[in-house]
Amino acid sequence: MNTQILEKPTTEPAGFSALMEVTSRPPIVFTQGRGAWLWDSDGKRYLDFVQGWAVNCLGHCPPTIASVLVEQSTMLLNCSPAFYNAPMIQYAEALTSVSGLDRVFLASSGAEANEGAIKLARKWGAVHRGGAFEIITTDHGFHGRTLATMSASGKTAWDALFEPKVGGFPRVPLNDLDAVEAAITEKTVAVMLEPIQGESGVWPATDEFLIGLRALTERHGILLILDEIQTGMARTGKMFCCDHTGIRPDIMTLGKGIGAGTPLAALLAREDVCCFEPGDQGGTYGGNALMAAIGLAVLEKLSAPGFLAQVNAGSRQLWQGLETLSEKHSLAGVRGKGLLLALNLGPRSDGAKIVERGLENGLLLNAPAPDALRFMPALNVNKSEIAEMLAILDELLSRD
Ligand SMILES: *Cc1c(COP(=O)(O)O)cnc(C)c1O
Repeated sequence: MNTQILEKPTTEPAGFSALMEVTSRPPIVFTQGRGAWLWDSDGKRYLDFVQGWAVNCLGHCPPTIASVLVEQSTMLLNCSPAFYNAPMIQYAEALTSVSGLDRVFLASSGAEANEGAIKLARKWGAVHRGGAFEIITTDHGFHGRTLATMSASGKTAWDALFEPKVGGFPRVPLNDLDAVEAAITEKTVAVMLEPIQGESGVWPATDEFLIGLRALTERHGILLILDEIQTGMARTGKMFCCDHTGIRPDIMTLGKGIGAGTPLAALLAREDVCCFEPGDQGGTYGGNALMAAIGLAVLEKLSAPGFLAQVNAGSRQLWQGLETLSEKHSLAGVRGKGLLLALNLGPRSDGAKIVERGLENGLLLNAPAPDALRFMPALNVNKSEIAEMLAILDELLSRD
């Protein structure tokens, strides 16, 4: 492979300060990636168990994406969402067939898909439920960074930000069906949640809760919206996390892995929920031919025979390895599903320090909370890469 190292920008301080500081980044510039590996501008190599935040489901720079990009970019990039294009139609058909839902709106980011889900539910409430508009959400949930999706998120650090928020998002604790039922009023139009809360630290909704929620929302004639942006597209060892329970939401959103590292997202819904009329929803890049062609290629890879089995084998190896480390270092166990796992660090709560030392040692990890490490490797990560990550982590955990 091509491991040519690019020049480190000589304008380092000025170049860095030309970016708005929306996150504190380490002073490293990544220049290349391949599979589970990243290289920085000094030629240092890193084993990547973050993968763009569970985005690069096929690892860095998968050859499939490169060839689809080249091929489609010589055919048609974008003819505006006001016209059909061939990949858009083919991809929508593939997504509906794999998800069991009936219609798709294609978008460019998870937040945009969720914003569309919220609008669709509100429209449905206006048309079919006497103007009901409230969407019950969960404590510690995460749905994105637009104003409405931040308002729908249950991140306490955001409570005082960007006031006034968008109203109409009462919150309940995850896995508390009685609390959901108590929150339902004639104003309620839907319940919206992640089947596994990713950003807050890999906290799964239980199977009983999801199954109960499906029955409860049906009984009350309200919608169930699943945000599968992090958990969908084979991340949890099934194509969608809801496949573990057999339930089907009325509305589902997809993002992250759906584009394997390129900006793609989708909003899917059941036929009788699809009440948008021309003009209600749109977006300049929605359904563009380039991204639809990529999405289709990604979906074909994830649907190939043996792909999910490989994800589940990787998951077992990672889970067992983390469990062993948990016992060895007196930590508090493993949680999650598939290749979205977290190691509970318990009282040592030095997640940030472990991440920092990992970076020095050529390992990219994420600590969504001080007491948790989150693992979201490429879905095609191999055995020796998992073993290597576990060996580095063992060493990091052995230090004070
Ligand atoms: C990442 C994420 C989003 C937001 O997606 P963006 O592409 O960053 O807008 C929404 N919901 C969940 C569950 C996510 O993990």
